Amino acid sequence: MRIKASYSNTPSWRSAYTQVNLPKELLPLEKMARNLWWVWNNDATDLFAEFDPELWRKSEHNPVILLQKISYERIDEILKDSILMDKVKKVIKNFESYIAEKFDKAKPSVAYFSMEYGFSHVLKIYSGGLGVLAGDYLKEASDSHVDLTGVGFLYRYGYFTQSISPDGQQVANYEPQNFGELPLDPVLNEDGNQMILAVPYPDRDIYANVWRVNVGRISLYLLDTDLDLNSEYDRPITHQLYGGDWENRLKQEYLLGIGGILLLNKLGIKKEIYHCNEGHAALINVQRLLDLIEGEGLTFNQALEVVRASGLYTVHTPVPAGHDYFDEGLLGKYLGSYPARLGISWQDFVDMGREHPGSGEKFSMSVFALNTCLEANGVSYLHGIVSRHMFQPVWPGYFPEELHVGHVTNGVHMPTWTAKEMKELYERTFDKNFYNDQSNHEIWDNIYSVPDAEIWKLRLAMKKRLVSYVQEQMKEGWIKNQKAPSAIFNIVDKINPDALLVGFGRRFATYKRAHLLFTDLDRLSKLVNNEKYPIQFLYTGKAHPADGAGQGLIKQIVEISRRPEFFGKIIFLENYDMRLAKRLISGVDIWLNTPTRPLEASGTSGEKAEMNGVLNFSVLDGWWYEGYRKDAGWCLTEKRTYTNQAYQDELDASEIYAMFENEILPLYYARNSKGYSPEWIQYIKNSIANIAPEYTTKRMIDDYIKNFYKPEEGRSKLVTANNYSKAKELAAWKEDTAANWDKFTVEQLTFNGQDLRDGAGLSSPNLTEGEKMKVEVVLDKKEMKGDLGVECVLTEYDAEKKVDKFISAQEFRLVKQEGSKLYFEMNAEAKIPGLCNFAYRVFPKHPDMAHRMDFAYVRWI
Ligand SMILES: *Cc1c(COP(=O)(O)O)cnc(C)c1O
Repeated sequence: MRIKASYSNTPSWRSAYTQVNLPKELLPLEKMARNLWWVWNNDATDLFAEFDPELWRKSEHNPVILLQKISYERIDEILKDSILMDKVKKVIKNFESYIAEKFDKAKPSVAYFSMEYGFSHVLKIYSGGLGVLAGDYLKEASDSHVDLTGVGFLYRYGYFTQSISPDGQQVANYEPQNFGELPLDPVLNEDGNQMILAVPYPDRDIYANVWRVNVGRISLYLLDTDLDLNSEYDRPITHQLYGGDWENRLKQEYLLGIGGILLLNKLGIKKEIYHCNEGHAALINVQRLLDLIEGEGLTFNQALEVVRASGLYTVHTPVPAGHDYFDEGLLGKYLGSYPARLGISWQDFVDMGREHPGSGEKFSMSVFALNTCLEANGVSYLHGIVSRHMFQPVWPGYFPEELHVGHVTNGVHMPTWTAKEMKELYERTFDKNFYNDQSNHEIWDNIYSVPDAEIWKLRLAMKKRLVSYVQEQMKEGWIKNQKAPSAIFNIVDKINPDALLVGFGRRFATYKRAHLLFTDLDRLSKLVNNEKYPIQFLYTGKAHPADGAGQGLIKQIVEISRRPEFFGKIIFLENYDMRLAKRLISGVDIWLNTPTRPLEASGTSGEKAEMNGVLNFSVLDGWWYEGYRKDAGWCLTEKRTYTNQAYQDELDASEIYAMFENEILPLYYARNSKGYSPEWIQYIKNSIANIAPEYTTKRMIDDYIKNFYKPEEGRSKLVTANNYSKAKELAAWKEDTAANWDKFTVEQLTFNGQDLRDGAGLSSPNLTEGEKMKVEVVLDKKEMKGDLGVECVLTEYDAEKKVDKFISAQEFRLVKQEGSKLYFEMNAEAKIPGLCNFAYRVFPKHPDMAHRMDFAYVRWI
């Protein structure tokens, strides 16, 4: 027999969790390590660090690993150290009493769905702003006693870690996460094995492990498909965040939506509100409809009333290209069997994801979300406006200004993003109840009572912490990547905490315009080499691995930073994650943001800076459009001067240089005899007092409760009460109205007696101000059972934007009803000077209609 050089089959790996054998005095720490409460409680992280500073550093500040690896000798020492043990007891007591607090029954309960969550750098299930927002929101729900349950994915590879090659190329490293070392728990069945969810996909079930992340009092359930029960083809569904092709994306969204609801069903969790963080989760509504149709015997239209009533869709994208669209064929492959079960046709189903039903458009998750959620919102005031314009084609009978789409401006979780030094200052200076009353300006006003010197000292301490963090991290990272030691020590030792430090950290998407500062390199060189005014720029950010332009931008900045005139003045920091973000947004003096307006939906990193007395210098876009206050930061004007983007960039860049040269640097260096600039401190105080209180997640969740959750809770009760009788009534009314919509006739439409039917214009269109007008309309609704309304819509032509702009809609009075005939009247006065256009619009009317977009049938007459 021929002997092979080697011969082996593949190993069968089994996993086992080994429980840490902590002594009983320390045992509660095991539970505490597996609750992300420590992320926003410095006493807890300080305690872990004190247990074993070296191990804490090596574990990258992960307490689960720390407790798994801490030595028995060290545990013995800890037990004998009475001062340390007092701290242990205090932290455990704080944790346990926090956890024991109950949800506030007055606040609606919420199921929250998101593709990503950013809680801590330790748990790599986020890529950027969207995830960090979701993570912050869950922390706030916990602090605010909101009964919220989250659903998401546990990614094997998460998002990539970034390193930069010697020639400035971004290298994306995907490192598998070891789930046993993460702060989460497997959800167990009664038999003690991990719960597995079976999700029906066409021709097969796909299985997912069920995990739970404890976020204070909140549970977040995560699904992961990387298990042997699945085929090689299905296991990677949850490998990467925003990785893979469109088919994998659809499989993910199917899992999040349909699987997400099946999971909650399996866990016996029912909530009052179903909140989609972005359109990715919109398929929850397919399963919710199905549950009502198959479980409660409702028809599709009745079920839709119920599902919509409790659905909220938050959009984070300002441009149509940012949404997910799926080919009809691909959609059919996965969802083809659903319409029949829902009792509708395939055509009806795809049309629910189209701006123009009946067209060949791809299926848009966002449009599907809009059609299956009664309410929707953007994430800043400006983004609300942008979203109403973006979504207007879904409701062609209405103008953007009339849409129900609202906004809640994003915020940040204050206790997470405020540096320890600053939190201690707030705790010393502010009311004891401060954390529970974060939106109270009166409390924040106390910042004015803090001596300037103390604020300056704190700011310096935070800057120094950033510098030492960067030096440590960069040295470690560079050594790992085998870079030349001379380069390392030269650059990192150049960061100067006494200089004005400017930070820029975000995803390298082109609209964020990271290149703006580098538009005029001669001028930039003069700026950074002025010995009178030392200034340094710290850049960081990842580009999506498929985004060539974004990666090109990183390369360009890295190359510039290596030129002699910029060496040590412009510094690019690798691997922007939450840990670096926290140091950076608290350790620089200025946070710079230069997006192309209006493409920054909200942005939150600048809000984090606010919590730390770091001043913002940003384009008036996203949250800063609302947040900017004079003498509390700086802005680039919101006006767009050029349509040509390159010209606009040039203009904006020269404005940035000028602001640094003429305003910011002179202000920062107007030092008094004590070594600081009192005016600068005044800016810091103004910004903390007037801006910070508005941009916390506390304010954000309160806005969601008041403007969306509460009204929807009421609506949901209305339509579900008495065995869904109102839902049935509304569905029947809509069905009847829709069936008879094209049949009603306009018997009369007269303007001061003149017949305006069939598009006729006014015979004498010149009115004098104050002139009286009487308009009479008679409709014959024929067989239609429900009511109709008529209104006059006024618009004026906006020559600059070349569109008709909505001015107002005024409803007619119903003066008489005879059989199927409705008599309407309106008396008005010519009031608006200049040319304006008007038209008459008929719409369905019902006292329980939530808003016009609830049933957006319109006929212009
Ligand atoms: C806060 C944060 C973001 C979002 O910041 P933007 O201002 O929206 O760019 C992105 N990434 C990380 C790591 C963050 O901490």
